Amino acid sequence: MTQPIPSSNDQCPCGSGYKFRTCCRARYDEATAIRPITEALDDGRTEAALQLSRAYVTRYVIWHRQHTVPLVKADAAAAEPILALDIAALSDIVDILCTCYEAGGQREDVPGVLDRLATAIDDPRWTQRIIYHRTIWSLGSAWNEEAGRRAMSAVGSIDEIADPQTLQLFLSLHHDELGFAESSKAIDRVIAAANDPVTRLHYRSLKGLEFVFIGDLDAGCEEIDGAIAEFRTSESMPCSGYARYRLALSLLFLGQLRDDPKSLEEARGLFEQELTDTKYSKSGRAMLRLQIADTYRSQCLWEDAKDSYLQSLDLEDSPIARMELARCALALGDHPTALAHLHSVGYDAITPREQLDHCIVAAQIAHVVKDAALVEQTADRLKATTPHEPYFREARDQLVISLLSIQDDATDEEANVGFIRKVGDLLGRYLMLQPNFCGLGINVNALLRHEKKGDSER
Ligand SMILES: [Zn+2]
Repeated sequence: MTQPIPSSNDQCPCGSGYKFRTCCRARYDEATAIRPITEALDDGRTEAALQLSRAYVTRYVIWHRQHTVPLVKADAAAAEPILALDIAALSDIVDILCTCYEAGGQREDVPGVLDRLATAIDDPRWTQRIIYHRTIWSLGSAWNEEAGRRAMSAVGSIDEIADPQTLQLFLSLHHDELGFAESSKAIDRVIAAANDPVTRLHYRSLKGLEFVFIGDLDAGCEEIDGAIAEFRTSESMPCSGYARYRLALSLLFLGQLRDDPKSLEEARGLFEQELTDTKYSKSGRAMLRLQIADTYRSQCLWEDAKDSYLQSLDLEDSPIARMELARCALALGDHPTALAHLHSVGYDAITPREQLDHCIVAAQIAHVVKDAALVEQTADRLKATTPHEPYFREARDQLVISLLSIQDDATDEEANVGFIRKVGDLLGRYLMLQPNFCGLGINVNALLRHEKKGDSER
């Protein structure tokens, strides 16, 4: 069995691969906080930051061996909360350690360090946490989902994931492939394990959306409504920017689903408040502008929506903003602009989900401008799309039928327009929720990292 404090020639517990003597021995005793590390990082003293973060990891590993391991041996059940705490705390420090490696231009060293750290805590949740860190590393700043999924595959099946944070990351990377039953089971497990109000709000809202996707709008609204109420009354209701952002998103979902101006206006106010925060990157602000625009669009305030989508587009080009601008122009009766926005999106270059949204906007425009070629092209494209949930697949099929029937049956045009709007809105609502829904993983992690950084700076 490993001694709590390694001997000189043992490998250092920080995972550097060096001997303890030449690595953290001189420093680990005093490493008790993240603050000096982030200060060193901010001052550009990356080598010092790396040494300090290594020493902090070493100190925590030794602390774990000295205190928690004997407790687990004596009474595993009683030691469980402490063990869970160790896993979370050491994982946070490892997060900083990885940041220091990156800051020092030693990004390539991280996988080896993580491999060596895999034995720091003897628990399957820790093993999963190491996979979690490897996945975050693989995703990188460009959020390479394919590389992330590859790294995450080491975890096995979703049922084997015992660590809530790894489960959350798994969900955000694999949500599209999971069926309703599988993902709602996983979401329930995250909710059951989560005790902080923001995570509960986030995942209860996702659960609500899951209900919507299988066609149970009422149950979905009830869940999101309940989640918001629970969040507002939670004893430790957080007031960080991230918490505000999460609340705003849940209010946006609820407002869209219930067509409720009060929720939409509150969401808008919160998003606008977030915009005043300097922590957001350019693309973060573009996302906030997009969401503000969504609140206007959901209230049919087309001019305001248009302005916000344009502001978002100014910050960062996105097919979603362009398609929404087409929708706004159509609603405002400006058909040439609607077509121009629609055609400015390269259909083959966008994701399948965006393609479906593109088809819906195209169907609405084709119908209004009576463009037979656009009708045909859109119907063909629609048939080739594959919405995941059966409910929306059915709506898609109805949309194709209705689109094609426009040409045959010109007399029943009024009814057709009404129907196509209805189906388009339904599908559109699904898709408009979906980009947010899928973006959650990305935004949440980026925001969380930012928030963590902000906390340690305070
Ligand atoms: Zn070390």
